[in-house]
Amino acid sequence: MDSKYNPYEEILKTLERAAKKLGLEEDDYIQLQYPERELQVSVPVRMDDGSIKVFEGYRVQHSGARGPYKGGIRYHQNVDMDEIKALAVMMSLKCAVVDIPYGGGKGGVTVDATKLSAAELERLTRSFATRLYPIIGPHIDIPAPDVNTNGEVMAWFMDAYSTLSGHLTPGVVTGKPIQVGGSLGRREATGRSITLMTKEIAKKVGLELKGARVAVQGAGNVGGTAAKFLQKEGCKVVAISDVSGGIYSESGLDIEKIIDFLRTKRGRTLAEYDGSDFSRISNEELMSTEVDILIPAALENAITGEIAPNIRTKIVVEGANGPTNSEGDRILEEKGVIVVPDILANAGGVVVSYFEWIQNLQYLKWDEDEINEKLENLMVKAFNDVWNAAEKAGTSLRMGAYMVAVDRIATASKFRGMA
Ligand code: GLU
Repeated sequence: MDSKYNPYEEILKTLERAAKKLGLEEDDYIQLQYPERELQVSVPVRMDDGSIKVFEGYRVQHSGARGPYKGGIRYHQNVDMDEIKALAVMMSLKCAVVDIPYGGGKGGVTVDATKLSAAELERLTRSFATRLYPIIGPHIDIPAPDVNTNGEVMAWFMDAYSTLSGHLTPGVVTGKPIQVGGSLGRREATGRSITLMTKEIAKKVGLELKGARVAVQGAGNVGGTAAKFLQKEGCKVVAISDVSGGIYSESGLDIEKIIDFLRTKRGRTLAEYDGSDFSRISNEELMSTEVDILIPAALENAITGEIAPNIRTKIVVEGANGPTNSEGDRILEEKGVIVVPDILANAGGVVVSYFEWIQNLQYLKWDEDEINEKLENLMVKAFNDVWNAAEKAGTSLRMGAYMVAVDRIATASKFRGMA
């Protein structure tokens, strides 16, 4: 990882470049360079051995110009305020790119969730929800899953909030299990949008998806689902990895089997997956495998100035948030690699979160086909908005996406005027 890398400062620089390309005055975008609210909390947890541990938690509400704050909660040992601030900005931009009526926010707890028992994880979640209670709500700020959090965590979070508010409030979080107000299609939504965006970009550049070689970094809900869907589209997924390393097969991996194996037990990794039809590779080797499509779907900073020169792909579709830093981005552009940026490619998650929230607020239930169709329409429209903006400005898709987003947020702020 590049030293002195500050994800928040980096994203602000890109945002400012987009604003300048749009011809905006500083007054039009200056508010976007400051989160509206940053909250740091202590998260005390009674551990299984009876002792009390205190973790650090954060929630950043970046922009409420276009609607309630929206964004996930991550549990990771590297979570800090700068990371959460950067991810909150990304959420504002993401919601604006796909044109759903939300602002952006993000939260997290600095904890290695893999070291906690399920009961400790539940107590941590309830403690965190209690700390955030004064600043969240179905019309204020609506969390969702992110790295190392899932439907189960969201159900605990909703229950803690509902207990405090005195009534069941499903609309306070999205990404819940179906049985407690979750939406059909939400769990697969991010992987589905990555697949949709891969299809769109493949059409534009004339790449046949049938037989196209794909490598996916990350085998969680985002990477694993994208790999599965892309295989269904006829792609050959030759490599996939997780925190424990990767696996490779020249003739294509059996993704369905691998994902089923990983999902049957919490904390399972690819290192435990047995078989003779693949070889083991490192995460770095995965990133430099010769493919048509590379999908970084793990954490930030996967494609840095050191990694980018070794990348051998035509297309990168960003499943993670912020997987490419600015130096990595510059090198990919120089090499002619097309990058479908995170704020567009992985937006399917928050789009179906939006559908879940609408259903919660109206006590409705939509069927899965309806949801998938709505998702596809919205994503394809967003892709075209970004493609056209990039083409018009003669710039990358990332810059095109930032321009679309910044323009929408700045325009909303302008209409609303100053407080
Ligand atoms: N954590 C996901 C993201 O980064 C989903 C956020 C949401 O659904 O609010 O987009």
